[in-house]
Amino acid sequence: MEILLANKAGFCYGVKRAIDLALTTAREKEGNIYTLGPLIHNPQVVQDLAGQGIKEITGLAEAAGGSVIIRSHGVGPDIIQQARDKGLEILDATCPFVARAQRVAREMAEQGIPVYILGDPGHPEVQGILGWTMGKGIVVENADELSRVDHPKVGVVAQTTQPLANYQRLVEALQKQGVEVDARNTICHATGERQRAALELAKEVDVMMVVGGKNSANTKKLAKICQETGTPTYHVESAQELREEWFRGHKKFGLTAGASTPDAIIEEVKRRMKELDQMTNGEEGMNEAMEVKAPQSGELVKGIVVQ
Ligand code: SF4
Repeated sequence: MEILLANKAGFCYGVKRAIDLALTTAREKEGNIYTLGPLIHNPQVVQDLAGQGIKEITGLAEAAGGSVIIRSHGVGPDIIQQARDKGLEILDATCPFVARAQRVAREMAEQGIPVYILGDPGHPEVQGILGWTMGKGIVVENADELSRVDHPKVGVVAQTTQPLANYQRLVEALQKQGVEVDARNTICHATGERQRAALELAKEVDVMMVVGGKNSANTKKLAKICQETGTPTYHVESAQELREEWFRGHKKFGLTAGASTPDAIIEEVKRRMKELDQMTNGEEGMNEAMEVKAPQSGELVKGIVVQ
């Protein structure tokens, strides 16, 4: 068998930074340590953090002194104030890319202009950015949601995981209304890079495995992109979910993972894939695995031949 790993997969910079901060805090701090909501959208990691004393809470009312870690998604100023009022120590793991979007939105709001925030209104990152606009923010998911703008100048920021084309369409639609648009592209490249790498890989393999939390929006999106190529695609959270029948008669497998999937889980899935291949395809699969050459295709050279 051949397993190709997407050249961009797994933890992004912001998620890794948040986990490092949480682990250091667990090692070095006494007392309660909380996260407001799951630190990342991966149940295995959250469970592991809980084992190290990091407790997930849904609201600050549940915190009884100690420290609170702000997730990579960030929060609005009201939450920070509430945490201060409760005497909690704030450990800020807001991803610097998200913090930039918050800063830009606040500066626009301070100029007194409406601030369009392109993103998912229910996502905590968008809620946080909205909080920094002091009532001047308007969340839209796409240009179709725009109504007539009644201000000569507007600002635009984007949730960091938005597709670039969606952002460009919104800016163009606003410009067509004849208003001055202060558009700042606050999109982070990590998501787009992972999606492009997954798409290219899915086109080249027999089966795609996408590893990550079932509650992780970016992992679900990766699975959808792969599925849309017509290649059979399976979204699993862990190696235990892999099924023997997925391997029967197939030789070339692609593997990618969401931005909140740790390397250890990716490795475990890889190992189990090899075991299941041996069980279903037997010795023939084993021999072929040893003969695999590095792929020749321009895109796939970026992939890593696992075996
Ligand atoms: Fe930060 Fe980008 Fe990762 Fe979001 S996807 S946490 S913005 S690095």
